[in-house]
Amino acid sequence: AKGAGKNQWRRYQSHLHDAMVERLELRSALDHAVHEGHFLLAYQPIVDLGSEEPVGFEALVRWYHPTKGVVAPAEFIAVAEESGLIVPIGRWVLQQALHTVAQWRRALPPDRLPYVSVNVSVRQFREAGFVDEVLQALAYAGVPPAALMIELTETLLAGDHETVWRDLALLREHGVRVAIDDFGTGYSSLGYLHRRPVDVVKIDKMFVDDMVDSPQQLALVTGIVGLAQTLGLTVIAEGIESPVHRDLLARLGCPLGQGYLWSSPVDGTEALAQMSYVPDG
Ligand code: C2E
Ligand code: CA
Ligand code: CA
Ligand code: CA
Repeated sequence: AKGAGKNQWRRYQSHLHDAMVERLELRSALDHAVHEGHFLLAYQPIVDLGSEEPVGFEALVRWYHPTKGVVAPAEFIAVAEESGLIVPIGRWVLQQALHTVAQWRRALPPDRLPYVSVNVSVRQFREAGFVDEVLQALAYAGVPPAALMIELTETLLAGDHETVWRDLALLREHGVRVAIDDFGTGYSSLGYLHRRPVDVVKIDKMFVDDMVDSPQQLALVTGIVGLAQTLGLTVIAEGIESPVHRDLLARLGCPLGQGYLWSSPVDGTEALAQMSYVPDG
């Protein structure tokens, strides 16, 4: 029995070792990708639930790996964050997204100019001069601050991030919109949000899925939408995959939605085509 325990321990150690080597390999491949510029952006429409037309697009990063092909962010964002590589990756994402929204806006009539929504890690805000970097990127792309929305995850609400909030307030004074992503998955409450520089709450897909079968979850989503409106916040429901989701959310008064029902993330050209589509009549 003692020998078996020893073997188990060895196996455990070798697993640990493999996992570590894998992380290191991923990190160095990611480092290489940053230098070579092996990333691309996909855009998913944010849709007005009334007209079902896009009002903006969320930019979602992909790693174009020379042998593995397109790698989803779930595979590398965590390592990018802990290694700090999210800083150069995020910088590229911001510049590329603004460049693309500038192209869209030049191609579209002035009454239907979309914004682009960019996921930003708290780690990026911790870099000195991040606010200036954002403002310079806007100026360089030649778009007004209203063409940009920044998405931050809800974990921000829990921790001690006063300097991040101060920077967000500053960006918001310039006209950049601020969204809290994955709302409902963490520990925060809406009551806490009303004192924060936030414009938009994104309801996580989990709630959208569950509300169809669970009266409790439906009541929760109803509560979030209602309270958000009272606080003057806009709501985007994520992960809408069916007309049942759409109709339920529209009936609750949720103004905006996002999901495969309308479109999965597409390239910039296809996104512009979605914007240009004008229904008959
Ligand atoms: P997220 O910000 O919550 O983005 C929504 C995710 O849900 C995206 O996955 C999107 O493709 C997916 N999605 C959208 N509609 C539906 C639907 O109807 N059904 C289902 N099942 N999924 C849907 P994606 O593109 O794989 O991104 C995953 C996560 O990676 C994002 O979650 C975000 O947290 C992170 N991420 C993506 N791009 C960036 C980035 O540029 N910077 C940072 N820091 N994080 C990013
Ligand atoms: Ca997001
Ligand atoms: Ca989300
Ligand atoms: Ca998410």
